[in-house]
Amino acid sequence: MKIGVIGGGQLGRMLALAGTPLGMNFAFLDPAPDACAAALGEHLRADYGDQDHLRQLADEVDLVTFEFESVPAETVAFLSQFVPVYPSAEALRIARDRWFEKSMFKDLGIPTPAFADIQSQADLDAAVAAIGLPAVLKTRTLGYDGKGQKVLRKPEDVAGTFAELGSVACLLEGFVPFTGEVSLIAVRARDGETKFYPLVHNTHDSGILKLSVASTDHPLQALAEDYSSRVLKHLDYVGVMAFEFFEVDGGLKANEIAPRVHNSGHWTTEGAECSQFENHLRAVAGLPLGSTAKVGESAMLNFIGVVPPVEKVIAIEDCHLHHYGKAFKAGRKVGHANLRCADMATLQAQIIKVEALIAE
Ligand code: AMP
Repeated sequence: MKIGVIGGGQLGRMLALAGTPLGMNFAFLDPAPDACAAALGEHLRADYGDQDHLRQLADEVDLVTFEFESVPAETVAFLSQFVPVYPSAEALRIARDRWFEKSMFKDLGIPTPAFADIQSQADLDAAVAAIGLPAVLKTRTLGYDGKGQKVLRKPEDVAGTFAELGSVACLLEGFVPFTGEVSLIAVRARDGETKFYPLVHNTHDSGILKLSVASTDHPLQALAEDYSSRVLKHLDYVGVMAFEFFEVDGGLKANEIAPRVHNSGHWTTEGAECSQFENHLRAVAGLPLGSTAKVGESAMLNFIGVVPPVEKVIAIEDCHLHHYGKAFKAGRKVGHANLRCADMATLQAQIIKVEALIAE
């Protein structure tokens, strides 16, 4: 079976690493000459709107999937004429726009921060008056890793902020005084069978994910699964979806979804019976889902900007290096380390060792 992937970054690369043992082949459509997934399959180097190359991809593969959600709607619509596309155009339409996303949560009875659509500075002034400060202004589309957003703390922060974010459609959200951030990685098959990985505790630095730790018997697991199931059923979703939540007042508020494999699920490569990457491929290919059970205690630490010397990373016991083969650049995710240990105390000790290496 040949899988077409829109996007050829590290997520595409890890999909191919998981799918190759299942006998799958891969083709990636990505305009970047140095797309790091290209080492694992065919690279169609073209823009996402290039219909000649999209048609070529559709002709070559059995189905198409995505490694990022900001794919133009026309690209998805065009491909869908010729080849099955998972997840659906509707799932992508909602996930790439924070207004659609939060409105869907609200319609499904899933708690969210207070939010308002912002089309002008006047809208922003009115929404700040209604929601209060602190609040977070985010572009509706194309924001990631904390980009395209600004925290408004004092009244002086409000003036001119709409222009500062580019005078594009935005969402204002009430600032959530969360006690923690967790994510749930779910996978739903074509026949509706759904499985969940254990909730993951996430720590960010300047909006970029730094550390994910898989939980055991998290008291909010059932609630997170309930909220996530509502979305998956509503969208008749196929594939892996990540749900990001704020932990607040003993409950959860939904922050966002990602209709794809997710950074906070990277630990599953060594830390679960079947990884998020393999399960995504199983789901879109119509194959039986694999077990999402945890194997040992796991954590993932991102390497941002630079991968520490390979020999030092792999010298740490229980540590598995994932090097993306990308050029090192400040602020860029260039690799990660997965730790899988026998118990939590060992895991915590090994996390400190990897953190020390990152700080060197
Ligand atoms: P996002 O791009 O929406 O995932 O936001 C990136 C990070 O900013 C989140 O992981 C949070 O740490 C923080 N953040 C985003 N929205 C809010 C909010 N409404 N209240 C508090 N912190 C937030």
